[in-house]
Amino acid sequence: MSIQGLILIQLWVFGLGLVIGSFLNVCIHRIPEGLSIVRPASKCAYCSKRIVWYDNIPVLSYLFLRGKCRHCQHKISAQYPIVEFLTGIVFLLLFRSVLMVSSGTTCAYAFFIIFCCLLIVGSFVDLRLHIIPNEITYTGLILAPIASILCVGLHDLSGSLSFYVDSGNQWIASLLASLIGILVSGGLIFLCGVFGKLVFRRDAMGFGDVKLMGVIGGFLGWKLAVATFFIAPFFGLLFGLPRLILKKGNMIPYGPFLSLAAFVCLLFKDFSIKTIDYYLNIYLSIFQLL
Ligand SMILES: [Zn+2]
Repeated sequence: MSIQGLILIQLWVFGLGLVIGSFLNVCIHRIPEGLSIVRPASKCAYCSKRIVWYDNIPVLSYLFLRGKCRHCQHKISAQYPIVEFLTGIVFLLLFRSVLMVSSGTTCAYAFFIIFCCLLIVGSFVDLRLHIIPNEITYTGLILAPIASILCVGLHDLSGSLSFYVDSGNQWIASLLASLIGILVSGGLIFLCGVFGKLVFRRDAMGFGDVKLMGVIGGFLGWKLAVATFFIAPFFGLLFGLPRLILKKGNMIPYGPFLSLAAFVCLLFKDFSIKTIDYYLNIYLSIFQLL
């Protein structure tokens, strides 16, 4: 493909992300309330006037209206353009990483996009209300194994699963990779929560986090989920430390950090898997010495 073609397709992917981001905003606000995400059309939360299409263009409308409703001049939350822009960036970065760098399949790209959309909605609801809706986690937990059967390129099928690959049952290997991912990662953070409760004598981890981690393991496999598990606390510290120093005491939810870490691991998939393999080999050789 020519360079112009490549640039054009990436612009298109980014634009598609902006539009989907606009829909994710609707999900973030309506799912926790138990409202339909398809109807009715968007309204201003304050004056209830319907938002016409030209005031609903992702990011641009917000900038053009300077963050205020056209009718009642009430401030519009900056979350709207942030989610739209973020989704656009996620679509673009994944496109480059999955399809251009590591020559993955379109099918894998599509499912990873759905996975990231679940992470975005879950994270922003978690930031607002300190819950991760079951609608998000259960959808992910059901969808991940289905995606693994439909799209064998989703998981790294080397190692012990290669037995099934060699015997021509790639889909079994892929399904197992997803199920093991759900169990290992959900279990890991569940144990962490139990341990935290014993030490700190309060709930360190919500069950929403356990389910979210299960979704991450289901889509990314256990190796990338373990990598996510180790990277997430660093993101937590990065945001948490300044708040701790400024004595802004209220709790920050953990879901967004898990999601961010999962996305970074997905972007640098091959590198993350190699790193986990490297440490795994060290541990295994220590056990062999004993
Ligand atoms: Zn208004």
